[in-house]
Amino acid sequence: MENTDFSIVSALVSKPLRILITTHSNPDGDAIGSSLALAAYLKKKNHLVQLMVPDPYPDFLAWMSGHEQILIFSSNKAECIKAIGRAEMIIASDYNNLGRLNDAAPLVRQSGAIKVLIDHHLNPSDEFDHQISISKISSTSEIIYNFIEKMGDLHLLDKEIAECIYAGIITDTGSLSYACNYVKTYLIMAELFRLGIDGEHLHRLIYDTYSESRLRLLGYSISDQLVVLHEYHTAFITLSKEDLARFDHQIGDTEGVVNYALSIKDINLAALFMERDGIVKASFRSKGSFAVNTLAAKYFNGGGHRNAAGANVTTTLEETVLKFKQILPLYQSTLKSVY
Ligand code: 5GP
Ligand code: MN
Repeated sequence: MENTDFSIVSALVSKPLRILITTHSNPDGDAIGSSLALAAYLKKKNHLVQLMVPDPYPDFLAWMSGHEQILIFSSNKAECIKAIGRAEMIIASDYNNLGRLNDAAPLVRQSGAIKVLIDHHLNPSDEFDHQISISKISSTSEIIYNFIEKMGDLHLLDKEIAECIYAGIITDTGSLSYACNYVKTYLIMAELFRLGIDGEHLHRLIYDTYSESRLRLLGYSISDQLVVLHEYHTAFITLSKEDLARFDHQIGDTEGVVNYALSIKDINLAALFMERDGIVKASFRSKGSFAVNTLAAKYFNGGGHRNAAGANVTTTLEETVLKFKQILPLYQSTLKSVY
């Protein structure tokens, strides 16, 4: 259930605890940014803090202060199991159900620690003891800023924390291009700059980090793999395992690719289907009123936000694409009248 009241969580962290902050698999800028900002703040409040992610985060985030201390479950299970065992409180930052911790999920579920959710995805699961869940806020990093503010601790913010929050806001709003028609986001931005961040430099660290093969993969995705179905205002891209191998695909390389499909005039729904080991990773994006999270949940067992959703599906790439094409007629009129 949506909960915008910070008071219970604020009270819980009023005395020092051993806290494990976790975030979702395939971590993005807001996952890592919000977790690191929260960790740095809670350390200043004398908590013993550790961070855990289910699998590695992309290189373009490996500049944020404290990132090297993040435990990665897939490559360091022993330390992660210890950290889960030690924790008195486990915080889920930027995801809404423990399943998104993949193989670490059962261990966290079994832990006796107090489980707290801080997130902005719709429909948080009920497996948390307490939640701060605000779906109208565009990034969890912004919620973390609000949390620190509500705690009366804005004086504890520093440039390093500000950089993490900036990264989360920028990456979850497409550089302030969507889900950010709110004054508060810009007031926070102003505060981050006041704390001394170099926005231009950080933007380059996040976005101007392509390898040659990543850029060529983007070119190939658009020139060879993009299918545009004007009658459904839809465009999609498929990438097979062979495609990804050919371009030496690294984690994070396909980040943002789906947005190019959406950038076509009158295209209101975009998808990217990527073949991974045994699964297909689907990304959905939309403009305006068309809700991709409901489409992702209903047909692909996924979820997300109105304009950005995803799913991990167990059908083959061909089957997944076929299914996607088959459901489009059901949405034809909605896709035509997006506002
Ligand atoms: P992306 O396409 O960038 O991987 O994910 C976009 C958004 O969709 C994420 O912020 C997340 O909210 C949601 N999402 C991605 N993958 C999954 C998934 O497998 N399950 C669910 N429930 N949501 C997902
Ligand atoms: Mn987020």
